[in-house]
Amino acid sequence: STIVLAACGGGRTAADAGDGDDAGGGFDADATIGVSLPWLGTQNWAEAEDLFKAQLEDAGFTALIQAADNKVPQQQQQIEAMVQKGAKAIVVGPIDGTQLGSALTAAEDAGVRIIGYDRLIENTDAVDATVQFGSVRTGELQGQSLLDGLAERKGEGPYNIELFGGGPADPNAPNFFQGAMSVLQPKIDDGTVVVLSGQTDFQQAATQDWDNGKAQSRMDSILAANYSDTPIDGVLSPNDGIARAVITSCKSAGQDVPVVDGLDAETESITSIWAGEQYSTVHKPTSDLVAKTVEIISAYQTGDEAPEADETENNGTIDVPVYALDPVVVTKDNAEEIFADDPDRLALLDG
Ligand code: BGC
Repeated sequence: STIVLAACGGGRTAADAGDGDDAGGGFDADATIGVSLPWLGTQNWAEAEDLFKAQLEDAGFTALIQAADNKVPQQQQQIEAMVQKGAKAIVVGPIDGTQLGSALTAAEDAGVRIIGYDRLIENTDAVDATVQFGSVRTGELQGQSLLDGLAERKGEGPYNIELFGGGPADPNAPNFFQGAMSVLQPKIDDGTVVVLSGQTDFQQAATQDWDNGKAQSRMDSILAANYSDTPIDGVLSPNDGIARAVITSCKSAGQDVPVVDGLDAETESITSIWAGEQYSTVHKPTSDLVAKTVEIISAYQTGDEAPEADETENNGTIDVPVYALDPVVVTKDNAEEIFADDPDRLALLDG
């Protein structure tokens, strides 16, 4: 019958969707997918490199993965090269959320789908979606965990603490700090928590390029100037690398190890938590983030509707659909439970 034939004729399959100029439709099932990572300086990015390769190839795609060593022009060039090599989708963890506009507009003009990964892509409409762990939520968990650790290890306040933020170009860093301060500021205001250095603004607390060495130097200076005859009780840290840098600095200044939170559930920090030094970390499993990203790319490939986003976030130009996964706090108390299905991390907990 005519009606059935018309319905069949209107269908698209992955195989025939390929080389058309219909940017809204699908692309070839073995298409090249670009992944542009900011650097490999923390464990989450190195894990992302391996997991994207494995998961994209499992899904039948050709993976083209590069990391840009924290240098913005290098990342711009890598994205341009991915477009030239015919990538149909590009996943980007931006070094600087605001500096990719023209490279991404050119990619979009070539029909490429663009997904922000772990960090928001800012000030451009050339982005289809962002996949990340809630970044303000992450900061709230960090701030709350610091307070919990202080109560657990030091008893009643007031507590002397210091504050660290991440790299100011990374759009996550101010969000982490803002989330943490939403928990800590009321405690500063009521005198439960004291920041002896007085450095409570994000700009003062930030760590250029997430460089652990810079965080360690700043901690050295703060301790020398404010804590020569006073114990430091706690430090807000935006990730595990900075947490360990802070702990190293405190030890070399002759301080007891303060309560320090973290982020990423890095190998060395899990070991430190298990040994009773670093208090906590926030776990945002890279395997889940990569899997969600590949799921969205697969929907783009078939031309099916992508899964529904959890929220939108304004990036300065448009409201970007955001897939927001839930981060979780890990301490010595719940580590075995949290890592029950993660053999590599679980193995760090024997002994
Ligand atoms: C990521 C963290 C990471 C940091 C430094 C952030 O954007 O969310 O997992 O520790 O960058 O690489």
